Amino acid sequence: MDSGKIRVRLKKWYQKSKRPLPWRESKSPYFVWVSEVMLQQTQVNTVIPYYQRFIARFPDVRGLAEADLQDVLKIWEGLGYYARARNLHKAAKVVLELHGGQVPGTWDKFRYLPGVGDYIASAVLSIAFGRPYPVVDGNVKRVLARLTAMDLPVNQSSSYRNFHQAAVELLDHDDPGEFNQAVMELGALVCKPGKPDCQACPLQSCCLALDRNQVAMYPKTLQRPKTPLHHLAVAVILKDGKTLIVRRPEKGLLGGLWEFPTGRTGQDESPESACVRIVKEQANLKVSIQSKLTGIRHAYTHFKMKLDGPADYRWVGFDELNNYPFPKANHKFIPMLIAQHG
Ligand code: SF4
Repeated sequence: MDSGKIRVRLKKWYQKSKRPLPWRESKSPYFVWVSEVMLQQTQVNTVIPYYQRFIARFPDVRGLAEADLQDVLKIWEGLGYYARARNLHKAAKVVLELHGGQVPGTWDKFRYLPGVGDYIASAVLSIAFGRPYPVVDGNVKRVLARLTAMDLPVNQSSSYRNFHQAAVELLDHDDPGEFNQAVMELGALVCKPGKPDCQACPLQSCCLALDRNQVAMYPKTLQRPKTPLHHLAVAVILKDGKTLIVRRPEKGLLGGLWEFPTGRTGQDESPESACVRIVKEQANLKVSIQSKLTGIRHAYTHFKMKLDGPADYRWVGFDELNNYPFPKANHKFIPMLIAQHG
Protein backbone atom coordinates (compact mmCIF):
# COMPACT_ATOMS: atom_id res chain seq x y z
CA MET A 1 0.00 0.00 0.00
CA ASP A 2 1.53 3.30 -1.07
CA SER A 3 0.37 5.31 1.95
CA GLY A 4 1.97 8.60 0.85
CA LYS A 5 0.25 8.56 -2.53
CA ILE A 6 -3.08 7.59 -0.98
CA ARG A 7 -2.92 10.50 1.50
CA VAL A 8 -2.17 13.09 -1.17
CA ARG A 9 -4.90 11.89 -3.55
CA LEU A 10 -7.46 11.49 -0.85
CA LYS A 11 -6.88 14.95 0.55
CA LYS A 12 -7.18 16.58 -2.85
CA TRP A 13 -10.35 14.68 -3.62
CA TYR A 14 -11.88 15.49 -0.22
CA GLN A 15 -11.21 19.19 -0.54
CA LYS A 16 -13.20 19.41 -3.73
CA SER A 17 -15.83 16.72 -3.12
CA LYS A 18 -16.84 16.94 0.52
CA ARG A 19 -20.47 17.62 1.32
CA PRO A 20 -21.22 20.93 3.04
CA LEU A 21 -22.58 19.49 6.28
CA PRO A 22 -23.58 21.77 9.19
CA TRP A 23 -21.08 20.26 11.65
CA ARG A 24 -18.27 20.90 9.21
CA GLU A 25 -18.77 24.64 9.57
CA SER A 26 -16.94 24.75 12.88
CA LYS A 27 -14.29 22.75 14.69
CA SER A 28 -15.89 23.36 18.07
CA PRO A 29 -15.20 20.15 20.04
CA TYR A 30 -18.73 20.21 21.44
CA PHE A 31 -20.34 20.48 17.97
CA VAL A 32 -18.08 17.76 16.57
CA TRP A 33 -18.86 15.55 19.54
CA VAL A 34 -22.65 15.97 19.25
CA SER A 35 -22.54 15.27 15.51
CA GLU A 36 -20.39 12.17 15.90
CA VAL A 37 -22.66 10.75 18.58
CA MET A 38 -25.69 11.30 16.34
CA LEU A 39 -23.93 9.88 13.29
CA GLN A 40 -23.19 6.62 15.04
CA GLN A 41 -25.87 4.23 13.76
CA THR A 42 -27.73 6.96 11.84
CA GLN A 43 -27.62 8.26 8.25
CA VAL A 44 -26.28 11.75 7.55
CA ASN A 45 -29.54 13.05 6.04
CA THR A 46 -31.55 11.94 9.05
CA VAL A 47 -29.05 13.52 11.45
CA ILE A 48 -28.93 17.02 9.87
CA PRO A 49 -32.26 18.41 11.23
CA TYR A 50 -31.76 16.71 14.61
CA TYR A 51 -28.26 18.16 14.89
CA GLN A 52 -29.50 21.66 14.05
CA ARG A 53 -32.34 21.50 16.57
CA PHE A 54 -30.07 20.05 19.25
CA ILE A 55 -27.39 22.71 18.84
CA ALA A 56 -29.98 25.49 18.73
CA ARG A 57 -31.51 24.20 21.97
CA PHE A 58 -28.29 23.21 23.78
CA PRO A 59 -25.61 25.46 22.25
CA ASP A 60 -22.81 24.47 24.61
CA VAL A 61 -21.74 21.92 27.22
CA ARG A 62 -23.24 23.96 30.05
CA GLY A 63 -26.59 24.29 28.28
CA LEU A 64 -26.73 20.52 27.83
CA ALA A 65 -25.46 19.65 31.30
CA GLU A 66 -28.02 21.86 32.99
CA ALA A 67 -30.94 20.70 30.86
CA ASP A 68 -33.52 18.24 32.08
CA LEU A 69 -32.96 14.72 30.70
CA GLN A 70 -36.57 14.66 29.53
CA ASP A 71 -35.96 17.75 27.33
CA VAL A 72 -32.85 16.14 25.88
CA LEU A 73 -34.79 12.98 25.06
CA LYS A 74 -37.59 15.04 23.55
CA ILE A 75 -35.17 16.65 21.07
CA TRP A 76 -33.68 13.22 20.37
CA GLU A 77 -37.11 11.66 19.90
CA GLY A 78 -37.23 9.59 16.70
CA LEU A 79 -33.47 9.38 16.27
CA GLY A 80 -33.31 6.08 18.14
CA TYR A 81 -30.60 4.52 20.29
CA TYR A 82 -31.56 6.72 23.20
CA ALA A 83 -28.63 5.57 25.34
CA ARG A 84 -26.60 7.93 23.16
CA ALA A 85 -28.61 10.92 24.37
CA ARG A 86 -28.59 9.83 27.99
CA ASN A 87 -24.82 9.30 27.92
CA LEU A 88 -24.16 12.58 26.15
CA HIS A 89 -26.18 14.36 28.80
CA LYS A 90 -24.32 12.53 31.58
CA ALA A 91 -20.96 13.23 29.95
CA ALA A 92 -21.78 16.96 29.61
CA LYS A 93 -22.38 17.06 33.38
CA VAL A 94 -18.96 15.47 33.97
CA VAL A 95 -17.28 17.93 31.58
CA LEU A 96 -18.93 20.83 33.37
CA GLU A 97 -17.99 19.55 36.82
CA LEU A 98 -14.46 18.34 36.16
CA HIS A 99 -13.30 20.48 33.24
CA GLY A 100 -15.20 23.72 33.68
CA GLY A 101 -17.33 23.06 30.59
CA GLN A 102 -14.33 22.71 28.23
CA VAL A 103 -14.33 19.43 26.28
CA PRO A 104 -11.03 17.76 27.25
CA GLY A 105 -8.63 17.26 24.35
CA THR A 106 -6.65 14.26 25.55
CA TRP A 107 -7.38 10.57 25.19
CA ASP A 108 -7.20 9.72 28.88
CA LYS A 109 -9.72 12.42 29.82
CA PHE A 110 -12.11 12.30 26.86
CA ARG A 111 -12.22 8.58 26.10
CA TYR A 112 -13.55 7.68 29.54
CA LEU A 113 -16.55 9.98 29.55
CA PRO A 114 -19.92 8.20 29.54
CA GLY A 115 -20.81 6.93 26.06
CA VAL A 116 -17.42 7.72 24.54
CA GLY A 117 -15.80 4.70 22.92
CA ASP A 118 -12.74 4.40 20.71
CA TYR A 119 -14.60 5.63 17.63
CA ILE A 120 -16.06 8.81 19.17
CA ALA A 121 -12.78 9.57 20.94
CA SER A 122 -10.72 9.19 17.76
CA ALA A 123 -13.17 11.23 15.71
CA VAL A 124 -13.48 14.14 18.16
CA LEU A 125 -9.82 14.25 19.16
CA SER A 126 -8.60 14.14 15.55
CA ILE A 127 -11.17 16.51 14.01
CA ALA A 128 -11.43 19.09 16.80
CA PHE A 129 -7.95 18.85 18.32
CA GLY A 130 -5.78 17.54 15.46
CA ARG A 131 -4.64 14.50 17.48
CA PRO A 132 -3.29 11.53 15.51
CA TYR A 133 -5.96 8.88 16.15
CA PRO A 134 -7.43 7.02 13.18
CA VAL A 135 -11.18 6.38 13.08
CA VAL A 136 -12.37 2.90 12.25
CA ASP A 137 -16.06 2.75 11.40
CA GLY A 138 -18.03 0.79 8.81
CA ASN A 139 -17.08 3.11 5.95
CA VAL A 140 -13.40 3.06 6.85
CA LYS A 141 -13.31 -0.72 7.20
CA ARG A 142 -14.93 -1.19 3.80
CA VAL A 143 -12.47 1.16 2.08
CA LEU A 144 -9.51 -0.51 3.80
CA ALA A 145 -10.79 -4.01 3.04
CA ARG A 146 -10.94 -3.15 -0.67
CA LEU A 147 -7.75 -1.11 -0.83
CA THR A 148 -5.69 -3.87 0.80
CA ALA A 149 -7.84 -6.86 -0.27
CA MET A 150 -8.21 -7.80 3.38
CA ASP A 151 -9.81 -11.20 3.85
CA LEU A 152 -11.02 -10.67 7.42
CA PRO A 153 -14.78 -10.15 7.90
CA VAL A 154 -15.59 -6.51 8.64
CA ASN A 155 -18.34 -7.45 11.09
CA GLN A 156 -16.24 -9.79 13.23
CA SER A 157 -14.98 -8.13 16.40
CA SER A 158 -11.65 -9.95 16.32
CA SER A 159 -10.83 -8.29 12.95
CA TYR A 160 -10.99 -4.83 14.49
CA ARG A 161 -7.33 -4.97 15.54
CA ASN A 162 -6.23 -5.56 11.93
CA PHE A 163 -8.37 -2.79 10.50
CA HIS A 164 -7.16 -0.45 13.21
CA GLN A 165 -3.55 -1.31 12.41
CA ALA A 166 -4.10 -0.66 8.69
CA ALA A 167 -5.72 2.69 9.56
CA VAL A 168 -2.80 3.61 11.84
CA GLU A 169 -0.35 2.97 9.00
CA LEU A 170 -2.35 5.05 6.57
CA LEU A 171 -3.14 8.00 8.85
CA ASP A 172 -1.94 11.43 7.78
CA HIS A 173 -0.20 12.84 10.85
CA ASP A 174 -0.11 16.35 9.39
CA ASP A 175 -3.88 16.62 9.36
CA PRO A 176 -5.46 13.55 10.97
CA GLY A 177 -8.93 15.08 11.33
CA GLU A 178 -9.19 15.99 7.66
CA PHE A 179 -7.76 12.61 6.68
CA ASN A 180 -10.24 10.66 8.83
CA GLN A 181 -13.15 12.59 7.39
CA ALA A 182 -11.82 12.04 3.88
CA VAL A 183 -11.74 8.24 4.25
CA MET A 184 -15.23 8.21 5.71
CA GLU A 185 -16.47 10.51 2.94
CA LEU A 186 -14.92 8.30 0.27
CA GLY A 187 -16.71 5.31 1.80
CA ALA A 188 -20.00 7.21 1.86
CA LEU A 189 -19.84 8.74 -1.62
CA VAL A 190 -17.62 6.57 -3.83
CA CYS A 191 -16.50 3.30 -2.26
CA LYS A 192 -20.11 2.54 -1.37
CA PRO A 193 -21.35 -0.76 0.08
CA GLY A 194 -23.27 -2.14 -2.89
CA LYS A 195 -21.70 -0.61 -5.95
CA PRO A 196 -18.44 1.28 -5.60
CA ASP A 197 -17.85 3.88 -8.28
CA CYS A 198 -14.26 2.89 -9.03
CA GLN A 199 -14.15 5.06 -12.17
CA ALA A 200 -14.62 8.16 -10.00
CA CYS A 201 -12.28 6.98 -7.25
CA PRO A 202 -9.11 8.97 -6.55
CA LEU A 203 -7.46 5.79 -5.24
CA GLN A 204 -8.06 3.49 -8.20
CA SER A 205 -4.37 3.13 -9.03
CA CYS A 206 -3.62 2.12 -5.40
CA CYS A 207 -6.49 -0.34 -4.89
CA LEU A 208 -5.57 -3.99 -4.63
CA ALA A 209 -9.11 -5.31 -5.02
CA LEU A 210 -9.56 -3.28 -8.23
CA ASP A 211 -6.17 -4.32 -9.51
CA ARG A 212 -7.14 -7.98 -9.06
CA ASN A 213 -10.58 -7.38 -10.52
CA GLN A 214 -12.07 -8.60 -7.23
CA VAL A 215 -13.90 -5.54 -5.97
CA ALA A 216 -17.19 -7.46 -5.61
CA MET A 217 -15.47 -9.89 -3.21
CA TYR A 218 -14.73 -7.19 -0.62
CA PRO A 219 -15.44 -6.50 2.16
CA LYS A 220 -15.90 -10.02 3.50
CA THR A 221 -18.72 -10.41 6.02
CA LEU A 222 -19.93 -13.05 8.43
CA GLN A 223 -23.56 -14.11 8.04
CA ARG A 224 -25.71 -12.60 10.75
CA PRO A 225 -28.60 -14.54 12.34
CA LYS A 226 -32.07 -13.60 11.09
CA THR A 227 -33.89 -10.78 12.89
CA PRO A 228 -36.47 -12.35 15.20
CA LEU A 229 -40.11 -11.30 15.05
CA HIS A 230 -41.80 -10.43 18.35
CA HIS A 231 -45.43 -9.72 19.04
CA LEU A 232 -46.05 -6.90 21.44
CA ALA A 233 -49.30 -5.79 22.94
CA VAL A 234 -49.75 -2.06 23.46
CA ALA A 235 -52.51 -0.99 25.85
CA VAL A 236 -54.16 2.37 25.21
CA ILE A 237 -56.16 2.98 28.36
CA LEU A 238 -58.70 5.80 28.37
CA LYS A 239 -60.34 7.37 31.41
CA ASP A 240 -62.10 10.74 31.71
CA GLY A 241 -60.51 12.07 28.53
CA LYS A 242 -57.01 11.04 29.63
CA THR A 243 -54.74 8.22 28.65
CA LEU A 244 -52.26 6.17 30.62
CA ILE A 245 -48.55 6.34 29.83
CA VAL A 246 -45.63 4.67 31.60
CA ARG A 247 -41.97 5.58 31.74
CA ARG A 248 -39.41 3.02 30.66
CA PRO A 249 -36.51 2.33 33.04
CA GLU A 250 -33.51 4.65 32.59
CA LYS A 251 -31.26 1.80 31.52
CA GLY A 252 -31.78 -0.33 28.45
CA LEU A 253 -33.63 -0.06 25.16
CA LEU A 254 -35.55 3.23 24.77
CA GLY A 255 -34.59 4.03 28.36
CA GLY A 256 -36.31 7.00 29.98
CA LEU A 257 -38.89 7.38 27.20
CA TRP A 258 -42.61 7.32 27.85
CA GLU A 259 -44.94 4.88 26.13
CA PHE A 260 -48.31 3.27 26.33
CA PRO A 261 -48.04 0.16 28.53
CA THR A 262 -46.29 -2.37 26.29
CA GLY A 263 -45.11 -5.94 26.65
CA ARG A 264 -44.54 -9.21 24.84
CA THR A 265 -47.57 -11.41 24.32
CA GLY A 266 -47.05 -14.81 25.87
CA GLN A 267 -47.33 -18.02 23.93
CA ASP A 268 -51.02 -18.74 23.29
CA GLU A 269 -51.93 -15.41 24.89
CA SER A 270 -54.24 -13.09 22.98
CA PRO A 271 -53.21 -9.44 22.58
CA GLU A 272 -56.30 -8.52 24.62
CA SER A 273 -55.32 -10.63 27.65
CA ALA A 274 -51.74 -9.49 27.27
CA CYS A 275 -52.90 -5.87 27.54
CA VAL A 276 -54.89 -6.58 30.70
CA ARG A 277 -51.92 -8.40 32.25
CA ILE A 278 -49.37 -5.74 31.25
CA VAL A 279 -51.40 -2.87 32.71
CA LYS A 280 -51.80 -4.84 35.94
CA GLU A 281 -48.05 -5.52 36.10
CA GLN A 282 -46.90 -2.02 35.23
CA ALA A 283 -49.47 0.22 36.90
CA ASN A 284 -51.37 -2.19 39.14
CA LEU A 285 -54.64 -1.23 37.47
CA LYS A 286 -57.48 -3.52 36.46
CA VAL A 287 -58.74 -2.72 32.98
CA SER A 288 -61.19 -4.19 30.50
CA ILE A 289 -60.75 -4.27 26.74
CA GLN A 290 -63.07 -2.28 24.53
CA SER A 291 -61.75 -2.62 21.01
CA LYS A 292 -58.65 -3.12 18.89
CA LEU A 293 -57.15 0.19 17.79
CA THR A 294 -54.77 -0.93 15.07
CA GLY A 295 -51.86 -3.21 14.19
CA ILE A 296 -48.44 -1.90 13.18
CA ARG A 297 -45.09 -3.33 12.17
CA HIS A 298 -41.96 -1.72 13.48
CA ALA A 299 -38.34 -2.74 13.22
CA TYR A 300 -35.73 -2.29 15.93
CA THR A 301 -32.19 -3.19 15.07
CA HIS A 302 -31.69 -4.77 18.43
CA PHE A 303 -34.44 -5.95 20.65
CA LYS A 304 -34.79 -6.63 24.29
CA MET A 305 -38.14 -5.79 25.86
CA LYS A 306 -38.71 -6.26 29.50
CA LEU A 307 -40.34 -3.81 31.82
CA ASP A 308 -39.90 -4.78 35.40
CA GLY A 309 -43.02 -3.21 36.79
CA PRO A 310 -44.40 -1.37 38.55
CA ALA A 311 -43.37 1.50 36.35
CA ASP A 312 -43.60 5.24 36.79
CA TYR A 313 -46.97 6.07 35.21
CA ARG A 314 -49.14 9.10 34.53
CA TRP A 315 -52.58 9.98 33.18
CA VAL A 316 -52.24 12.63 30.49
CA GLY A 317 -54.59 14.51 28.18
CA PHE A 318 -54.24 13.97 24.43
CA ASP A 319 -53.01 17.53 24.00
CA GLU A 320 -50.17 16.77 26.45
CA LEU A 321 -48.86 13.71 24.62
CA ASN A 322 -46.52 15.87 22.59
CA ASN A 323 -44.67 16.99 25.72
CA TYR A 324 -43.34 13.49 26.35
CA PRO A 325 -40.59 11.71 24.45
CA PHE A 326 -42.10 8.56 22.93
CA PRO A 327 -40.51 5.70 20.94
CA LYS A 328 -41.08 5.92 17.21
CA ALA A 329 -43.37 2.87 17.18
CA ASN A 330 -45.88 4.72 19.41
CA HIS A 331 -45.91 7.67 17.03
CA LYS A 332 -47.28 5.41 14.36
CA PHE A 333 -50.66 5.31 16.06
CA ILE A 334 -50.81 8.44 18.25
CA PRO A 335 -52.41 10.53 15.43
CA MET A 336 -55.02 7.82 14.93
CA LEU A 337 -55.74 7.79 18.64
CA ILE A 338 -56.17 11.56 18.75
CA ALA A 339 -58.45 11.46 15.70
CA GLN A 340 -60.70 8.86 17.34
CA HIS A 341 -60.74 10.05 20.93
CA GLY A 342 -59.08 13.44 21.19
S1 SF4 B 1 -11.03 1.74 -6.54
FE1 SF4 B 1 -13.09 1.09 -6.15
S2 SF4 B 1 -12.95 -0.48 -4.60
FE2 SF4 B 1 -10.98 0.56 -4.66
S3 SF4 B 1 -11.14 2.10 -3.06
FE3 SF4 B 1 -11.78 3.07 -4.97
S4 SF4 B 1 -14.01 2.82 -5.07
FE4 SF4 B 1 -13.22 1.42 -3.50
